[in-house]
Amino acid sequence: MDSKEKCQPETDRIAVTPEGVLRVPDKPIVSFIEGDGIGPDIWAAAKGVLDAAISFAYGDRRRITWLEVLAGEKAYREAGEWLPERTLQAIKNHVVAIKGPLTTPVGEGIRSVNVALRQRLDLYACVRPIRYIRGVPSPVRHPERVNMVVFRENTEDVYAGIEWEAQSSEAEAVIAFLKDQMGVRVANDSAIGVKPMSRRASRRLVARAIQYALDHDLPSVTLVHKGNIMKYTEGAFMKWGYELAREMFGDHIVVESDGGLEPDGKAPPGKVVIKDRIADMMFQQVLLRPEAYHVIATPNLNGDYLSDALAAQVGGLGMAPGANFADNCALFEATHGTAPRYAGQDKANPISLILSGVMMLEYLGWMEAASAIEHAIQKSISDALVTYDLARQMPGSQEVRCSEFAEAVIERLTWPGHAGT
Ligand code: NAD
Repeated sequence: MDSKEKCQPETDRIAVTPEGVLRVPDKPIVSFIEGDGIGPDIWAAAKGVLDAAISFAYGDRRRITWLEVLAGEKAYREAGEWLPERTLQAIKNHVVAIKGPLTTPVGEGIRSVNVALRQRLDLYACVRPIRYIRGVPSPVRHPERVNMVVFRENTEDVYAGIEWEAQSSEAEAVIAFLKDQMGVRVANDSAIGVKPMSRRASRRLVARAIQYALDHDLPSVTLVHKGNIMKYTEGAFMKWGYELAREMFGDHIVVESDGGLEPDGKAPPGKVVIKDRIADMMFQQVLLRPEAYHVIATPNLNGDYLSDALAAQVGGLGMAPGANFADNCALFEATHGTAPRYAGQDKANPISLILSGVMMLEYLGWMEAASAIEHAIQKSISDALVTYDLARQMPGSQEVRCSEFAEAVIERLTWPGHAGT
């Protein structure tokens, strides 16, 4: 192979047109971050499944050229930086990326590689679908009633990282400012954190959630907030959400509090109900009436808590996929962490990362490969082949290693409805 053949031709780049339309060549370059801890194990499993499903669905016509980019411990070891600038550039240039979990260094270096990735790439919408896979052990009686997609604002709120240690000169200066300029008293030994929430960031997140509901024919979008207490941040999120819904989607929505819903609380055909719920009450609702909620749009911290709680209802973090979207790029990722206790043991559950890959295939428009994988995962679980985390809760199941689970999924790639289902 000469040097020219080694470079990636431009035509293999995914692109976003000025109108925001994704252009995907048949052999796109996709960047990946292997991840720390269990990352290398679950990434190897996920990559194997994704490649096999693409080949199963499209033969030689389509394939992904994987481009490794460094972040986290591997980047620190090899390049002396937790998040090299060229990693950010590569993700931007190639538009679509997928990652394993990354360690958050404690007491040194970068605050959080994950948060830095989201902020530097302006990945403002964290999208987490939560759906039950039949046969997975769950702590609730009707996990199959959970079928929601959480849209979590990803760049603001207390995650903006604006905080000062108690008794630091910065905290003391802010406390003095609050007392002298704003007439507000705060205990002198307080730590101080700031919770910024902007109209722009709230609106673009809600817009994405409503568009998703319309694109997927889903009946409702719920704005989840704590506006009864935090009126000018969480309360404003709700206000801006309704404002955006009426302005941008007026012909396609019905606001619950305006009335006009069908007697069963549903919107008239073809329309989406926009409603809001206070965050604490929402935690009850998703346990008691999960079937009443479809798309959730919520600020950063609520979204973090709520999506983990929902993941537990359908079988735990090892099962929950996720994606982070900017206007011009997308980063797909497992929602769990690095599970350091199981690092390098070929033991962890790769489903979360495989399903994040399924979301990625759907984003590329490669629906056949995506649905073949979902079907094969369901089949592997129905055949009681599962990793340790599920096996210990599934009497009669056969515990398999991470790589063996991937092999089981690959062996079961068939079209939904075909023999063997
Ligand atoms: P964790 O998600 O790594 O682990 C929580 C529990 O779930 C542990 O018992 C773990 O063994 C189990 N678990 C997680 N993933 C699993 C899988 N795929 N299969 C089977 N069991 C699984 O959370 P943690 O222990 O709080 O965090 C460990 C590290 O990961 C920290 O450095 C943290 O900052 C980081 N983290 C990264 C991300 C990310 O990259 N998006 C997310 C969360 C935590």
